Amino acid sequence: MAVTGSVRVRLAPSPTGTLHIGTARTAVFNWLFARHHGGSFLLRIEDTDRERSKPEYTANILEGLHWLGLDWDGEPVIQSERIEAHRAAIAQLLASGHAYRCYATEAELVAMRELQQAQNRAPRYDNRHRDLSPEQERAFVAEGRQAVIRFRIDDGAVITWPDLVRGEMRWAGSDLGGDMVIARRAPADQIGDPLYNLVVVVDDAAMAISHVIRGEDHIANTAKQLLLYGALGHTAPLFAHTPLILNQEGKKLSKRDGVTSISDFQAMGYSAEALVNYMTLLGWSPPEGMGERFSLEQAAAVFEFGRVNRAGARFDWDKLNWLNGQVLHGLGAEPLRQQLLPLWAARGWGTGTGPWAEADWQRQLCELLAPSLTLLADGVEQATPFFTRPEPDAAALAQLASDGARPALVALLSLLPAGDAALSAEQAQALLAQAASQAGVKKGVLMKSLRAALLGSLQGPDLVSTWRLLHPSGEDRLRLQSSSTVP
Ligand code: GLU
Repeated sequence: MAVTGSVRVRLAPSPTGTLHIGTARTAVFNWLFARHHGGSFLLRIEDTDRERSKPEYTANILEGLHWLGLDWDGEPVIQSERIEAHRAAIAQLLASGHAYRCYATEAELVAMRELQQAQNRAPRYDNRHRDLSPEQERAFVAEGRQAVIRFRIDDGAVITWPDLVRGEMRWAGSDLGGDMVIARRAPADQIGDPLYNLVVVVDDAAMAISHVIRGEDHIANTAKQLLLYGALGHTAPLFAHTPLILNQEGKKLSKRDGVTSISDFQAMGYSAEALVNYMTLLGWSPPEGMGERFSLEQAAAVFEFGRVNRAGARFDWDKLNWLNGQVLHGLGAEPLRQQLLPLWAARGWGTGTGPWAEADWQRQLCELLAPSLTLLADGVEQATPFFTRPEPDAAALAQLASDGARPALVALLSLLPAGDAALSAEQAQALLAQAASQAGVKKGVLMKSLRAALLGSLQGPDLVSTWRLLHPSGEDRLRLQSSSTVP
């Protein structure tokens, strides 16, 4: 569908929790669409649930969006500050006859639903107070009853809209649960707290939103909201309903699945770049030839709803990890060092005197470790034997105790050139071959034993580079391990 006019989209998070991956993914799609069309991406904080909304959640949401690089235009709109506009719209609907006061008590509504259930009917409000006479209303008020305000939904209404993701949509008014509450219970001469569907329509219209992009769990709300647009005399925006994010079992991803907050992913060491890249792939297929690794700007250049899937998007940790690794591998030694420095410093590493405190040595270490990093935290774990002298693990101990290991290390030590000379790769290889033949072991045995002695483990990066980086403390480690295994 061609986009005409200026694009204005919004993210409307409720600050009742930290920034959830689903909300962040909605933000990504809004941002991509806005930037693709040179439009505006606005924020509205939907804080009308006074009990559950908290300023720290608003702060977490804004920080999370900022961290992900999803910059918004202008100041966020604070929904609670717009309550007079919401009340005015309700007053307008009361005056035009689109809305009315319903005095049914909670107990009456429960009894109504129980009866519907007993008769195997879908629960819905039966519109019982839709056409009260002024006398009936006065009688309820005299009884001391308070009223909610309901918006009329005609059962015969047919609501249709062209959804940018899902195509032509169609809802029957009779499937919307009866006349909907738009203001909470209050004394009959007042307008109670306005509710979600009403305030969203009033605010989206006031903000001149052109496209509402949100999760498919809002589809029924969209049908209700379209009726409100009509009754209030506003032009409705276009709608795009994005697929839900699913867990491994194919169910909607929820708090029970563990990590779902952007700040959790951040704390686990995922980079914003990888996470935002991954979220773009959650429901959107990039055009052929683009691959799966790209920046937000690159995605914005080609983003369109035609490539957003209807089916739910399964959360795939392997792909996220792969992307995070790609980001780290491509970072370059110095930017990686900058990111790792605070984590190293937290362990007291990288300071004092010695090669490890030098930027150049640290960059070489980053270069050595980069290809095997998945998370930034791996750059702490894998750097451990370079900053501290490791205790050999069980496999390393077994290797050091195995046949030929000690003689090979002793031979290597005896062949090492005296003084402070660091070896070139060729010299090192030649030396290893010579030491192995002198000790009468295969070169592999020596390599494994050397790795065990230097790193305390049989796993690790390239041995020659490791040796060079550890110089001169590598010789000490070698001496220690070759002598400690002497009976
Ligand atoms: N506050 C709503 C939510 O967080 C906004 C939905 C919408 O975009 O209209 O689900």
